[in-house]
Amino acid sequence: MSCAFGGREIVLIITALVSAAMAASLQIVHFKGEVLRMKRFWMVPIVVFIFMAVFFAALSARADDSGDERVVPVIRWVCFQCGKEFFTFAPDNIDGKAKTDHKMVNYQQSNWVLLGDPGKSVPKCEKSPDGAHFFEKKQELNTSPYIIHELRNFYIVLKNGGSLKAKIIKWKCMSCGINGFCFLGDDMDSATEIEFSGVQKVYNMKSGSRIPECRLKNYRGENIKCHMLDFTDKIEPKSIEIAKSLSNMWYSD
Ligand SMILES: [Zn+2]
Ligand SMILES: [Zn+2]
Repeated sequence: MSCAFGGREIVLIITALVSAAMAASLQIVHFKGEVLRMKRFWMVPIVVFIFMAVFFAALSARADDSGDERVVPVIRWVCFQCGKEFFTFAPDNIDGKAKTDHKMVNYQQSNWVLLGDPGKSVPKCEKSPDGAHFFEKKQELNTSPYIIHELRNFYIVLKNGGSLKAKIIKWKCMSCGINGFCFLGDDMDSATEIEFSGVQKVYNMKSGSRIPECRLKNYRGENIKCHMLDFTDKIEPKSIEIAKSLSNMWYSD
């Protein structure tokens, strides 16, 4: 968050203080009541528990805001023959058991391409005699746009797939007009505009290069650097559409 301070953290810290104050006042009531005198001993661990629970909730919210937003549902597959690992965007299905076509090398080579380069087919299986993989579903998980960028040549995209669980959203800088897309849920390092400390830590999904600085200048003629992002149209993409417009997709670190 180079350009903003997380509002969620403030809310969680206030919640922690209010919980602690409530727990403390309860303890005083128990102390004054003769009948409830015993209870003040077990109030102590409760107060500690509330503190710890809220503290760790605040910590995890902070971790989310640090940029590793796991907002994209994906599926991890392993080939039964060669043991190689690939991913698809959920619910794109490459299960060898799901369809006869999924076991045919010609079908794989003509329909399954790579996210990093949709002009390239999935590499052939090195262990099966005909070069066809046999994929088994290993895990459904949520991952971050950054990790997808890093593994873009291990993501299989279906030419004929349906709409994905993940959504993408169009953004535009209100100052300089630069625009693109990102996965819905990625804060693009710009939740609020409280602080301007430089251009966002936002990178291109295809090349990995950092977003250029905003061209808007302040009254002294200095570059503002930080884009003022506005999020507009939400889109339910197919995986092939993401692959084809990957150089227009951005992620925050
Ligand atoms: Zn294989
Ligand atoms: Zn801008």
